Amino acid sequence: MFAIAARRMGYRVHTFSPETDTPTGQVADVEIKAHYDDLIAVRSFASNVDVVTFEFENVPAATAQAAAECAPVRPGGSVLHITQNRLREKTFLRDHGFPVTPFKAVNSIEDLKAGLSEFGCPSVLKTAGFGYDGKGQTKITAADQAEAALSSAGAQEMILEAWVDFDCELSVIGARGIDDSFTHWGAIQNDHRNHILDVSIAPADLPPEITREAVAITRAALEGLDVVGVLCVEFFLTAGGKLLINELAPRPHNSGHLTFDACVTSQFEQQLRAVCGLPLGSTELLRPAAMANLLGDLWPCVRGEAGEPDWAAACAFPNVKLHLYGKLEPKPGRKMGHLTAMAESADEAVGLVRKAREALRRGSGRCQ
Ligand code: AMP
Repeated sequence: MFAIAARRMGYRVHTFSPETDTPTGQVADVEIKAHYDDLIAVRSFASNVDVVTFEFENVPAATAQAAAECAPVRPGGSVLHITQNRLREKTFLRDHGFPVTPFKAVNSIEDLKAGLSEFGCPSVLKTAGFGYDGKGQTKITAADQAEAALSSAGAQEMILEAWVDFDCELSVIGARGIDDSFTHWGAIQNDHRNHILDVSIAPADLPPEITREAVAITRAALEGLDVVGVLCVEFFLTAGGKLLINELAPRPHNSGHLTFDACVTSQFEQQLRAVCGLPLGSTELLRPAAMANLLGDLWPCVRGEAGEPDWAAACAFPNVKLHLYGKLEPKPGRKMGHLTAMAESADEAVGLVRKAREALRRGSGRCQ
């Protein structure tokens, strides 16, 4: 979606990843296949472009550094380094005065037991690195599960978090320009299923002071991390009305995919504008909108059946837009695409997008 936004504005796009025929590669002008630790390939890639950015934060720090020797890297490698590890991220946030879910580093069973007696049960044990969409997470509901939870994690750096009894989850996506300008898309409400984002709704139905506070925190995080580009801050809103940061993503985020259809400037175009040093665009929401993810589970072949989702049935909803990413193989839990619905109200948009997704299930035909 970033590459599509870039091509629309006349930019040429080069992409670097360890695979070929990737969703970005299908749209880019040049697709380079190499490993992130092949620093010669990284330098050669960066020498051929004007600016480098990332679509996910798990790119090694050394890769970002090698690229930075040949072209500006936005956001900088230090932002990736902090945000690709939950412990580093939460420590940074806590040390800079941001409200964050209570956490503890876990390197031994003693650490875990101490954490559980401080936070109580349930608590959640997560891998510090390479975790997303609930991967590497174990909810511990009783103290006697500690040993089993830790041994199933293997020898990895872990983090224990207090379980947050939240009223809702929301995100604010902000963007910071090269000239320190700031824009945001307000608060977006997020519903998760099995720890994976299911539906996002804009605007979120929240008291205006909560939205203002979440936006102020997002701006402070962009400035504190010195991000040039888009940053998503995911929050829990507790039953007591307190905002806690769950996670940061220094890039366009799944909860902002609805901005592609529903806003004057999408998060992808804004990322492009920011990293290319252009003025930022208006983030105005043109109509209330809701986005529903399409996971691989929707594909009949994932259940061993013939056929594929009924695309025409979803397209029969004239105010629903279909996005498919071109990922080659549907798998359970894999994000293959999304639907965005626009309507007179956010509630109506949510109803519409759920109905359109349900219509996909009637599918028949061949599974590619
Ligand atoms: P994460 O990968 O950390 O963003 O977690 C994915 C989802 O799991 C979150 O969006 C929440 O729905 C849930 N979750 C993660 N951590 C916690 C927590 N400490 N308390 C309550 N729910 C959580």
